[in-house]
Amino acid sequence: MKGTLAAISALTTLGMVASVNAAPRELKWTDESLRGAIWEQPVAATVSPIIYMNNCSTGCTITPGSNNAPMNRSSIPNQTSNVPKYTGSAAQWNQLVACVRATYAAYNVQVVTDRPPAGTNYHMAIVAGTPQSVGMQSGVLGVSPFSCGYIANSVSFTFANVIPSNISELCWTVAQETAHSWGLDHKYDNRDPMTYLSGGPAMKTFQNQAGSCGEYSARQCQCTYAGTGASAMNSHALIMSLFGPSMPATPDTMPPAVSITSPAANATVVAGFEVTANITDNVAVAKAELRIDGNLVGTDMAAPWSWSAPASVGQGSHRIEVKAYDAANNSATGTVDVVIGFVCTGDGDCMGSEVCLSGHCVAGPDMPGGLGTPCADNGECTSGQCATSETDNYCVDSCDPAKADSCPSGFGCVLAGNTGVCWPGSGGDGSSGGCNTGGDGGTVLVGLGFAAVLFSRRRRR
Ligand SMILES: [Zn+2]
Repeated sequence: MKGTLAAISALTTLGMVASVNAAPRELKWTDESLRGAIWEQPVAATVSPIIYMNNCSTGCTITPGSNNAPMNRSSIPNQTSNVPKYTGSAAQWNQLVACVRATYAAYNVQVVTDRPPAGTNYHMAIVAGTPQSVGMQSGVLGVSPFSCGYIANSVSFTFANVIPSNISELCWTVAQETAHSWGLDHKYDNRDPMTYLSGGPAMKTFQNQAGSCGEYSARQCQCTYAGTGASAMNSHALIMSLFGPSMPATPDTMPPAVSITSPAANATVVAGFEVTANITDNVAVAKAELRIDGNLVGTDMAAPWSWSAPASVGQGSHRIEVKAYDAANNSATGTVDVVIGFVCTGDGDCMGSEVCLSGHCVAGPDMPGGLGTPCADNGECTSGQCATSETDNYCVDSCDPAKADSCPSGFGCVLAGNTGVCWPGSGGDGSSGGCNTGGDGGTVLVGLGFAAVLFSRRRRR
């Protein structure tokens, strides 16, 4: 075909040994009269750092002509060509993208998988289809336009459906074909992605070493490179001169955000209570520590961020702190204070106006913010929980709806979302689903269309 290469003739001549060598990864001169020309450093502004890896998920239609990646136009096919999508799995595609990124990691090159916005210059590496998709003979793994210089907005091809699951071979084919578009020749070195040779490391990297060009044997290079002339090529130096080194990653200085979701601030809790937290980070949360009264209780390395307080944390006030870290060791702490009430079996076991709820004493209806007192939001309640029916708002506390006697006398355990809460006047006779006289004189239906709704808890720091 037009632009037939040394590579193909070499394969023919050395057919006896071709089977031990890798499949051809071709290059195609945009203007073969430039063979042997001086490789020219392009004007920096014309060099795009973007490689768009396109797996043609909905098929690619490529028209023939001068290379223009945004317009899906390529100098490779002689007629409009349809390239079917990559047939490997999504996981294999992700591995391949990661491998190409790793191959270019040393350089200021961005490998993306979404088409850049209009007006952007980029190289499009089509990674899909077969050589027949663009009118080439079988056996070829890839092809790229080639000139002794940088081809802006070039379109290269890696015929991934020939070997869709061979991530290593596909990876260095993508690397080789993209670099052909920048004027890199084949290198006679099986450590370098520009190689035709099998063997060498599975993960090939652009070698920072001048060496012979060539496919299955050393030969003169097809371009005259600065520093090495036509007798050798340094892949790494050429790519570095085009793109420069990779930009150092911006240091992460943003700490995680910590919100203790349970218990609520100033809640009365029982011994062995659960502590749960929502923790987010702009990168990732590395670990979180629970401290109670300054003593380290536990360290979690992954979500869900939850702990049980030791039984040794007894009656009285306690400070709960959840301290989260990201990988850069930025940290943040969420704090709430709670009270463990006295253990009780009935209201008579509790001090003053406290009442007995699920075996511990909590503030009762005669105390400010106590159980069953009117409220407008969670912060007004000792329990940290204000619930509403359609007509009333009361401070509530958690109870077990399966246990008829888990609330103090004068209260019943009603469903509020997935949990039960003690609600004034709505229980005490052990029945459910009946009508009961509420504490405010109204009638509250239990289990018949009535459910208390907890106010959403406000963020606490
Ligand atoms: Zn090649």
